[in-house]
Amino acid sequence: MKKDKSYGLGTRAVHGGVEFDPSTGAVMTPIYQTSTYAQEAPGVHKGFEYSRTANPTRQALEASLASLEGGKFGIAFASGMASISSLTQLFSSGDHIVCSDDVYGGTFRVFDKIYRNFGLKFSFVDTSDVKNIEAALTPDTKLLWLESPTNPTLKITDIAAAAKIAKSRGIMIGVDNTFMSPYFQSPLDLGADLVMHSTTKYIAGHSDLVGGAIITSDAQLAEKLHFVQNAAGAVPGPMDCFLTLRGIKTLHLRMERHERNAGKIFEFLKSRKTVKKIYYPGDPNHPGHDIQKKQARGFGAMISFDVETLDRANKLMSRLEIFTIAESLGGVESLIEHPAIMTHASVPPENRAALGITDGFIRLSIGVEDIDDLLEDLERGFEAI
Ligand SMILES: *Cc1c(COP(=O)(O)O)cnc(C)c1O
Repeated sequence: MKKDKSYGLGTRAVHGGVEFDPSTGAVMTPIYQTSTYAQEAPGVHKGFEYSRTANPTRQALEASLASLEGGKFGIAFASGMASISSLTQLFSSGDHIVCSDDVYGGTFRVFDKIYRNFGLKFSFVDTSDVKNIEAALTPDTKLLWLESPTNPTLKITDIAAAAKIAKSRGIMIGVDNTFMSPYFQSPLDLGADLVMHSTTKYIAGHSDLVGGAIITSDAQLAEKLHFVQNAAGAVPGPMDCFLTLRGIKTLHLRMERHERNAGKIFEFLKSRKTVKKIYYPGDPNHPGHDIQKKQARGFGAMISFDVETLDRANKLMSRLEIFTIAESLGGVESLIEHPAIMTHASVPPENRAALGITDGFIRLSIGVEDIDDLLEDLERGFEAI
């Protein structure tokens, strides 16, 4: 396929990055499970020398991801965290990074517990009010790191407004687009310099691998990231690249169904009087609803809600048959989790309280099962409370 942004996202999901295998014509990208490549003479080769540097299966995935995000370059990593960590390795001691205060816990952890030790400085601010970004910038600020929506309270940041502030000061802006996937949100079009994904989630979509990627249209930035990718070596293996490519082919079909199911579950939750609060950008009362409508093509399929007490949360969760109690998100199966005990246990209790993550707070990752079965399952849970 011509690498052309004018194709629709579904077409790009199926064809992006795919070149029929030159030696056999294989339609599916082969798994090049090899570490090294024969050279005709020293230095004379077909563009591949060693698989940390480049691998054909990985290259196909990188091209596919670039196509999906409307960017020129994709750089794949071993995990979402490996992507963020590799990006952070572009900076030097004394550099300052401004970051959303409600970012993925692992992002906070790698910044605070590892890169702080290397002399990098961080400010964690509520970026859903862009005035807070402006106030946090210093002459040393090199990167603005956003997540929208955030996890698990689904706060929305105006990406275009944030990008405008960053651009006016010559600061790089990166967006973790994991929760939306390229199907619903295109941060590069909103002014971001780079987009990052935990491909573990919606992009691969089947809860069967861990992976990550960064996409950019900036050739200089891509070159630096390729350098870190090869030098530091946090690369994904060919098998995981193949599985991610396979998952991508149905991204648009899955996202459509994920979201439709989520909308119905939101309506269900709204009708339950034991639900004290719902966190869902598709809720017209969500403070970020209008910005979400402006900058994204949908609301995604993550919904959090509060049933006030741990006892209720436990009773509800223990009755479910289809929703599985598990961390992670974005797979075909519906998952339910308790952030205070599970994904966000490492966030200090006072920070959790400030963010509204109470002991009755529950997060859903809504899958692609039949909606009637999902609703019946939740009904069963609510009967227990
Ligand atoms: C899961 C996740 C990550 C980390 O990705 P891994 O693939 O688990 O390393 C980063 N950001 C967000 C928003 C995530 O959901």
